[in-house]
Amino acid sequence: MSLRINSRDIKCSKCSLLYIPFRKNFCCPNCGEPAKEFFDFIPEIIYSMNYHKRRYGRFFPYGWYVGSLTNHIQETIFLLFDKIEEVKPADPKGFIISSLDNMDWSHQPYLKNHVKDIVLAVYNIYKDDEGLQKNGEEAITQLTLLEKIKYWLHSLAP
Ligand SMILES: [Zn+2]
Repeated sequence: MSLRINSRDIKCSKCSLLYIPFRKNFCCPNCGEPAKEFFDFIPEIIYSMNYHKRRYGRFFPYGWYVGSLTNHIQETIFLLFDKIEEVKPADPKGFIISSLDNMDWSHQPYLKNHVKDIVLAVYNIYKDDEGLQKNGEEAITQLTLLEKIKYWLHSLAP
């Protein structure tokens, strides 16, 4: 089981593009129109990262599908922080920035800096959170048969 942040995607009232207004008084990263709502995404993603780490020993869970921009950004964060723990870069912030710069944003260029801001906000909490950083040796690795099947199917996906 993975922990999905259930939130409808928030759309800019002016340009209709999707984004996450993760800070108060947020403005659309594409056109600058002030957001009408606030979505407290950072504590939620930290909570799901903690949950996955305890259960699977890593942030990216078994069985994950992307159904929304929010899920997509969650996935990017899980994979990136797993990579940070694997590679242990000397400059984690630089590693985050260059990893995101190297992704293909051509379909949604406004998301590059938006996702970067979100990931760096997560990193600011992660760097001081020993619980999140501790290795996953105590993880509950006994998966149910259904989880194993889901993981197996996921690994076959292109
Ligand atoms: Zn906009």
